[in-house]
Amino acid sequence: MEELVSLCKRRGFIFQGSEIYGGLQGFYDYGPLGVELKNNIKAAWWRSNVYERDDMEGLDASIIMHRQVLRHSGHEATFSDPMVDNKKNNKRYRLDHLVKDQKADVIARVAGAVGQSVENFPAMIAALNADPAKASEALRAAGVRDPFSGEVGEWTEPKPFNMMFKTTIGPVADDESYGYLRPETAQGIFTNFKNVVDSTSRRLPFGIAQIGKAFRNEITPRNFIFRVRELEQMEIEFFCVPGTDEEWHQHWLDKRLKWWEDQGVPRHKIEILDVPKEDLAHYSKRTYDLMYDYPTLGHEEIEGIANRSDYDLGSHTKNQSELGLVARVEENADSIAKLTIPHPDTNKPVVPFVIEPSAGVDRALLAVLSEAFTKETLENGNERIVLKLRPHLAPIKVAVIPLARNKEEITDVAKKIKAELQGLGLGRVLYEDSGNIGKAYRRHDEVGTPFCVTVDFDTVGKGEDATLADTVTVRDRDTLAQERVKISDLGAWIQAKLR
Ligand code: ATP
Repeated sequence: MEELVSLCKRRGFIFQGSEIYGGLQGFYDYGPLGVELKNNIKAAWWRSNVYERDDMEGLDASIIMHRQVLRHSGHEATFSDPMVDNKKNNKRYRLDHLVKDQKADVIARVAGAVGQSVENFPAMIAALNADPAKASEALRAAGVRDPFSGEVGEWTEPKPFNMMFKTTIGPVADDESYGYLRPETAQGIFTNFKNVVDSTSRRLPFGIAQIGKAFRNEITPRNFIFRVRELEQMEIEFFCVPGTDEEWHQHWLDKRLKWWEDQGVPRHKIEILDVPKEDLAHYSKRTYDLMYDYPTLGHEEIEGIANRSDYDLGSHTKNQSELGLVARVEENADSIAKLTIPHPDTNKPVVPFVIEPSAGVDRALLAVLSEAFTKETLENGNERIVLKLRPHLAPIKVAVIPLARNKEEITDVAKKIKAELQGLGLGRVLYEDSGNIGKAYRRHDEVGTPFCVTVDFDTVGKGEDATLADTVTVRDRDTLAQERVKISDLGAWIQAKLR
């Protein structure tokens, strides 16, 4: 992981946010190559989940939302994590992260103090939350250390901490004029359900897809871009007839696993966690968490696929009592819309069930990079770092390299090739004249460029072999094979390989 983080900075994938002022924890900026990789991941997701299906629509809702949305979604009341403070240095930690970071014997003592076993970590955290006074005593008695100072801490009782960012709207900062930065993109889909149905004439089943930023004031952002405060999500809300939800849940589980494989994240590196009943979110009937085996971190959630029942539309709709809702929802006297759709068989209004595959773009990028990062020892004994990204994800598809930077006859041809390849819409094609050829190859290996095209004296008919006129050398990132290709065939040749 450390090597990957260092490569990300060195080659311009990811930088610390606000770095020149000392950085802001939990915020990252995507650099010249990071933005390309991120866009390619999002495009692959959109292509697979919107364009290649006929039962999906897209959406881009606003980030700042009316506080009533986040009230009726349940986020004001429940979108919180328990935290504890160390009175010795005023550092604040998420309770589960604090306990997880302790040595095994300390964790065992914490578990013992609340009558739980170390095997069932969520149950231990739930027990700590259930009795705050006992919890702070348990942390003290177990000798829980402060991860920052390394010393045994003096711990407060756990308190819920709401993770939503609140912001003033308009010129007056009073008790009424505020909204929230959305903590998930999903709510923008639910609040637009009626707009999408009315404008597209969709019938059940169908889904709405959205990619966008979400914000969570995580108590302990950490592990590079794995846990950040400004994140991006790729979310689908798939609306279906109640009773068909379990089938659709399985459908989306299969589809999503296949998609990860297509991005180079193999099936055997993902564990499917069928989330135990007692750990389910308040809206969920059943949830599968896809746990990817991140280097150093181990199995952590990369995507959640939840059956949200009729909870969300049921929570945001008016006339709740007439709709025969299955989920338990809070009363809503604020909504002005009835969020129903005709049942395809009876035509009677129904609140559909929702299946939600929700993946993090940042966590996807970290997984894709982890899988692609490869160190090889070459035949001459040298080490080579290479990002074996799937070509459709590579930030730069082709680097066109003139062998001599100051020979116009060569640079002119190279520039022309760059322009022609760029015109094919493959993604970014780079004219690369920044160093010698060896350095250029090393750089493009490290950033995952699948093909380097070199224009040399032979290309322009001034080399030793006249038969090589109007041809270029194409070097393959993975095999290192070099092939001579006619300029007139180059576009089609590369297109075929990138497909
Ligand atoms: P975790 O348990 O790791 O905090 P979560 O269960 O809160 O995650 P969800 O609410 O299910 O996550 O969000 C859906 C997806 O959004 C996650 O699978 C993950 O990919 C991404 N995600 C959530 N929180 C963060 C974060 N703080 N930083 C980066 N990605 C995140």
